[in-house]
Amino acid sequence: MSISLQLQQITRNLPAQVRLVAVSKFHPASQLQEAYDAGQRIFGESRVQELVEKYDQLPKDIQWHFIGHLQVNKVKYIAPFIDTIHSVDSEKVLNEIDKYAGKFNRKIRVLLQIHIAKEEHKFGFYTDEMGDFLKKEYPNVLISGVMGMATFTDDEKQIRKEFKCLANCFRQLKTSYFSESDSFTEISMGMSDDYPIAIEEGSTMIRVGSKIFGNRF
Ligand SMILES: *Cc1c(COP(=O)(O)O)cnc(C)c1O
Repeated sequence: MSISLQLQQITRNLPAQVRLVAVSKFHPASQLQEAYDAGQRIFGESRVQELVEKYDQLPKDIQWHFIGHLQVNKVKYIAPFIDTIHSVDSEKVLNEIDKYAGKFNRKIRVLLQIHIAKEEHKFGFYTDEMGDFLKKEYPNVLISGVMGMATFTDDEKQIRKEFKCLANCFRQLKTSYFSESDSFTEISMGMSDDYPIAIEEGSTMIRVGSKIFGNRF
């Protein structure tokens, strides 16, 4: 099926509060352009160099989201244009984003990546690690919510349990740290194989790649 038909199929049934991030990593700019021509404006990439190259080639009204692990020393390359970073997994990277957003006179939206899967992931906060650094002021960052990835499994119950856990974590953080904030509103969860479950469990942003663009090589 074509990119535009896949996009139509996904967006047709999307509740109004849910946005689609088209995850275009490893796919050539021509395919992103095809999705853009079909109306898609939010794209997600997971590698800094690839993202910068695509940013240079593609229309400037694209809203770019970074979804991969972000090394502290690479923040400066995407800070001039990135809209949202889904994968903040340390206080250090949060400080760096704040610093460079300030340098470029911008505000960057970020999400806190949370461990929800059974698998050992290398990156993301455990829920009991969230602490005092969230009370600090980050003048150039809008902490906008949470992001998580469910276990890679066919067990729907397990996936649902993990998404519920992320939604709970969102509510707890909101109560504890962001009750005064208008911008803490996003739960980024759901990929090609599990996004319908994620939407049922309260997702506000789904990150869908292979279902739109086909397999990555
Ligand atoms: C690659 C990736 C996706 C998209 O995965 P698909 O299964 O292709 O939809 C979503 N989120 C993150 C963090 C990713 O790395």
